[in-house]
Formats: sequence, C-alpha cells, structure tokens
Amino acid sequence: MALIVQKYGGSSVSDAPSIRRVARRIAQTSQAGNDVVVVVSAMGDTTDELIDLANELSHKAPRREMDILLTAGERISMSLLAMAIDSLGVKAKSYTGQQAGVITDAAYGKARIIDVTPSRIRLSLDKGHVAIVAGFQGVNQETNDVTTLGRGGSDTTAVALAAALGADVCEIYTDVDGVFTADPRIVPAARQVQRISYEEMLEMAASGAKVLALRCVEYGRRYDVPIHVRSSFSGRVGTLVTDVPGRTIPGLLPEDVPSDSTGNEEDSMEAPIITGVAHDRSEAKITVVGLPDVPGTAARLFEIVAQAGANLDMIVQNVSAAQTGLTDISFTLPAADAPATLEVLTNSRQEIGFDELKFDDQIGKLSLIGAGMRSSPGVSARLFGALRDAGINIEMISTSEIRISVVTRIDTLDDAVRAVHTAFALDASGDAVIYGGTGR
Ligand code: ADP
Ligand code: ASP
Ligand code: MG
Repeated sequence: MALIVQKYGGSSVSDAPSIRRVARRIAQTSQAGNDVVVVVSAMGDTTDELIDLANELSHKAPRREMDILLTAGERISMSLLAMAIDSLGVKAKSYTGQQAGVITDAAYGKARIIDVTPSRIRLSLDKGHVAIVAGFQGVNQETNDVTTLGRGGSDTTAVALAAALGADVCEIYTDVDGVFTADPRIVPAARQVQRISYEEMLEMAASGAKVLALRCVEYGRRYDVPIHVRSSFSGRVGTLVTDVPGRTIPGLLPEDVPSDSTGNEEDSMEAPIITGVAHDRSEAKITVVGLPDVPGTAARLFEIVAQAGANLDMIVQNVSAAQTGLTDISFTLPAADAPATLEVLTNSRQEIGFDELKFDDQIGKLSLIGAGMRSSPGVSARLFGALRDAGINIEMISTSEIRISVVTRIDTLDDAVRAVHTAFALDASGDAVIYGGTGR
C-alpha cells in the first residue's frame, strides 16, 4: 500500500463528464488499497475567466480581493470532485488550502509556501477517506488572509503536500502524456521523455515549459519527491522526474498502459546531449538608453528596479560610446511586471540620469536545455546555425551551464522552436497527442 498524491489540472476537470472520469481514476487508486490525496485545479479556463472579469471592473484590483476571487475556482472543483467520488461509493472530503494547512507568506498573487501542516488531511486518510485539496492557495501566516501561489500553483500545492505527508509519489495529471522534448502544441513531432532530472526539469520550467510549475520542481528536488507527469485521459505511463537512474515509477495500477515510447535514448549508455527546447511568450524587454558609464550606475538602476518586485531574466549592457561616456542597458522581465517597473524607473530618471526608456513586449524566448551540453562543444554553433537557416534574427543571448536562451521577435518564435527541435534530431516519427485543454 502506497500514499499517493494526485494532482488534476484544469483541462482534466473542465466539465461534469471529465470530473466523473477523474473520479473513477481516483476511486480505482483508492480501491487498489492506496491512501489517496488529490489536489485539484479550477475547471478549464476558470482562472483566466475570473481574471478577465476582474479586469473589466477594475484597472488595479486590490491584490487581496484578487486572491480571494481566484481561490473560488479551485473550491468549486474540489467540492464537485468530492461529490463525484462519493457517488462511486468511495468516501471523499474536500478541504481548502487553509484547511489543509498550507501556510504562506504575504505576497498576494505569488505567495510562497512557508509550511504545510496537514493534520486534517492525515485524519481524513486515517478514516479511510480520499482527501481532496484545493490547489494553488494557502493562508497568510500573519493576517489569516487567503493567498494564491501564482499561475500553475496547484502543481506546487501537490508536491508540497506530498513532501509534508512523505508520499511515495506525486502524480501530476494533465492533457498530454508527459514531459516532451518541446511543447506538443507547437512541435507535433515532439517526443515523450521517459525520465528527466530535477535540474533539467527546473531549467525547462524556468524557461516556460508550463507542464510543471517552477516552484513545484524546486520543492520536489529539495524533498526528493518523485514526480510522475502523465495524462488523465489515456492511462498511459508518463514521465518520471527523479535523479535516480533506473528508478521504477511508484504507484502504478495494473490497468496502466505502458508509455508509447517513441524511441528516445533513455536506456542507451549515454544520456542524450539535449533534453528539450522550451519557449516563453510571457516576457518583455526594457532598454534604458543613455546611462552614465560610471561605477555604481547599474547598482542604483537595479536597486530601483527591485522596488517594483520583478524577477529579471536576461541583462545586457552595451559597450559605452567613447565620445559620450554613455551606455545602454537592456533587460527582460515578465510582461506582467513591466508596468510597475516602468513606473519606478520613470520616477527616478533624474536621479539615475538616463535619456529615455524603450519598451518592447513583442519578444519571444527560446531555450535549449540539456545536461550533456556541459561536455559537448559546438552546441551553440548548431543552435545559431539552425536559426540562421530558418531566417530568424537573434536579439539577445544568455547561457547557463545546461541552457542556451535566445530572444527573437515573438512572431518568429514558433518557427524557431521547430527549426531547433529538428536541428538537434529530436523529432519523433509520429505526432504527439493533445487530449484536451485550450492551451490558454
Ligand atoms: P494543466 O491544466 O493540467 O495544469 P497546463 O496547461 O498547465 O496543464 O500544462 C500542460 C501543457 O503544457 C500542455 O498541454 C502543453 O501544451 C504545455 N507544454 C509546454 N511545454 C511542454 C513540454 N515540454 N512537455 C509537455 N507539455 C508542455
Ligand atoms: N487555477 C490556477 C491557474 O490556472 C492554478 C493551477 O491551475 O495550477 O493558474
Ligand atoms: Mg499547469
């Protein structure tokens, strides 16, 4: 008997028949003798619809109210799912994030989990119930106000609960069969990865592969929680995120279908050099033009930028023009953080002493990821060659030990991803299946 945490994403519970299908899977897992904790997302695109509604009523909605609003989505799905499971003759009880003991800091909209104290969930399991927990939400330790963990945060709820409960596995059920070498919505020939290390998955998630939220992978790595990403539609075995080579996937049911392995090199002696290609459309670029090229300018500039609370990504400083002693600095950041960042910069123009600000939200970022890059020369040359052959201009470049990222025009991003995927021989012979979701 195992303790299994299962998370079902919005596309897996988008309507009543889907909720019933998911309920059957949960009931099967419970009837096979496992303890089951389920984390559920809001139905379909509910979260986006609630955000649209709020934006219609307010340009600057109070963040506390925004968080209460958004947690409603997960509360709807958790109770409906509990009812559906109950109707199959299996006892189930639903809990809000607060009731489940998910305690966070005060950062509305992107709260961090400080602690998980799941005593009520344990009691529920002891009574033989399936415990259903609303994803993506917690409670502010100090004020007792409801908080949300940021988009995709139900993944984090699931892994955090799995860690706190000492679960054998955290299963993330979604609308594709696992982690692929690229987003199958852009690259139909993407192939499923059988096993991926936390480090590579972290880079993929940080680079925009939204199949797993970044913080959930960080959590999984810290507490060594095996994460099994799979489809709630197919019953196929998916992708295991783990650092243990050859680790078998815990928690499988006899009726699970072996994965449709499209011949990746998992079992060969050498791991492939490239794990995948990720893309991100959610960033924007700010250029600060005409900065004095003297010590301390960058420090002051980024102190001021930090006041806006944005997580910066790439930073590039141009060579100073000798005659003027002035330079430009460009940086990328989540587009959602741009208005606040532009505001603090505009207010400090005199103090920092720059000429003007340029803003560009038509950028896309492509990232090539693979731990094998460390020991393989020529990867960048091949990447840039593939983009040249596809006629795609590179605007910025940054690298880590196992990742190379480039910024392009947003309307060339999809072509760039496909070209690079092909250039690194990642294409499978068949097309990946997308079972649901709108890709929103
Ligand atoms: P859920 O609603 O289940 O949380 P998400 O939409 O957040 O689902 O994540 C699943 C989606 O992630 C897939 O439908 C796919 O379009 C996208 N995706 C992006 N990159 C990848 C990748 N490398 N492998 C698999 N899916 C990916
Ligand atoms: N419902 C939230 C979102 O759409 C959280 C999640 O689904 O993980 O981002
Ligand atoms: Mg998600």
